[in-house]
Amino acid sequence: MTATASPVQAPRIGHHINGQNVNSEDGGIEVYSPLDGSLIGLVANADQAQLDHCVSVAAEAAKEWSVTPVKNRIQCLFKFKQICEERSQELGEIIAKENGKTVAEAIAGLNKGLEVVEYACSLPQLLVGQTLEVSKGVDCSTRRFPLGVVAGITPFNFPAMVPLWMFPIAIACGNTFILKPSEKVPFTANKLAELLEEAGLPKGVFNVIHGDRSCVEALLDHPGIAATAFVGSTPIARSVYQRGIAAGKRMLALGGAKNHVVVMPDADPELVASNVCASAFGCAGQRCMAASVMVAVGDCDAMIQKIVDYAKTIKTGTEMGAIITDESRQRICSYIDGAGALGAKVLVDGREAETNADENGYYVGPSIIDDVQAEHNLACDEIFGPVLSIIRVKTLDEALAIENKNPYGNAAAIYTSDGASARYFEQHANAGMIGVNIGVPVPREPFSFGGWNDSRFGVGDITGDDGMRFWTQAKKVTVKWSANSQSNWMS
Ligand code: NAD
Repeated sequence: MTATASPVQAPRIGHHINGQNVNSEDGGIEVYSPLDGSLIGLVANADQAQLDHCVSVAAEAAKEWSVTPVKNRIQCLFKFKQICEERSQELGEIIAKENGKTVAEAIAGLNKGLEVVEYACSLPQLLVGQTLEVSKGVDCSTRRFPLGVVAGITPFNFPAMVPLWMFPIAIACGNTFILKPSEKVPFTANKLAELLEEAGLPKGVFNVIHGDRSCVEALLDHPGIAATAFVGSTPIARSVYQRGIAAGKRMLALGGAKNHVVVMPDADPELVASNVCASAFGCAGQRCMAASVMVAVGDCDAMIQKIVDYAKTIKTGTEMGAIITDESRQRICSYIDGAGALGAKVLVDGREAETNADENGYYVGPSIIDDVQAEHNLACDEIFGPVLSIIRVKTLDEALAIENKNPYGNAAAIYTSDGASARYFEQHANAGMIGVNIGVPVPREPFSFGGWNDSRFGVGDITGDDGMRFWTQAKKVTVKWSANSQSNWMS
């Protein structure tokens, strides 16, 4: 929605280019807080001239930054991490206001993102390269070089964490960076830019450009940007990946998810209840790692009752945050509306959740729907809300067949007290991140983050060593100084 007629009293949010706030002439895109539905800003929508300016600023900054030794480059990242930790409450409140999650969840996401800064600070140890005397008197070595100006396009659901998956490694590797955050959460991105400069990052090394689809397309087509990482929904990830590749860029695009948690009858019921609820309803289910389908193997009635009891204790509005837009809230509710007609049973109904939160906020409470079939929309679509669908099966193989058939492949988890079942699941689940008695199996750095199948387009993961490889290219140097090197025919 774009503001038109009456002048609206909301702050204008400009791009952050070369350390400066750059605004647009047009009305901008309206930004609402999910907590109370209020208009909290008008964010600029970059035109081609602003994007060109941003790319040329980043290219100019790259001249100096790319030849700054990595040990010097990371000094401001140490400082940045410290500043973010000291001001985590302030950052958490900014995130909560624009995204709708609780401040505690916002700070947890920030801290998870800061682990990647920690990894980036270790890059002097990892970028050392290799050298070998490959023939008598002839040395071969590899060195990794930055790509130049690179970009990241990010979703609404983790306004700090997802950008943090990208820019610390990219910058530490010597690139200059352009972040295009979701137009629904523009405030956090600009704050991160300010804090990076406060930490000593030279202006122009990290820039933020705001906008919607047109801005993304211009960015993907821009010949001055060498590589782009994207995180968002699968249909957009697929098209962004293809467009970027067609424009000659290095691309990695992470997409959506439909994560299965398999519960065996021998699982610890208390652990299952608290973990499955935390996974399905944390961040109001708006997580690419959320458990969305629980596959109950054998007799799990008592366990399901415990999950239901636990879900009913979660306070919507205080312990569980809001949904990003009213449109998303209505879409989520429509899945619950349709459950009865499918023959499924609504055990906990989030549409009826009581809340002390603002009545204009976009809330849905935890919802649990039993007797869902594998072919139902409840079991197939990425609902991206606090809705847990339960499918009943008799064996672990049946559960795996359901998990394997879904087109996504971000995460899959099993709850069991039997090592053989866990090992079998780990071996046969068709996803990039597996949990055993862990409901949100996000690997901690340096283990990298990334899914499989339609949850990822491109090669490799987004963080860890794969991130380092994505944002760099290797140069191989072969050297002979001695005329009498007795080198063989290859030299
Ligand atoms: P989204 O796909 O709507 O938007 C992501 C980004 O793409 C935003 O910056 C947006 O401005 C831009 N965009 C939107 N429509 C576009 C279009 N038609 N063309 C080009 N660009 C466009 O995603 P979202 O709703 O912001 O975030 C939720 C989605 O992100 C979920 O599907 C979730 O699973 C996914 N996600 C995945 C991961 C992962 O690691 N795989 C992590 C977080 C979120």
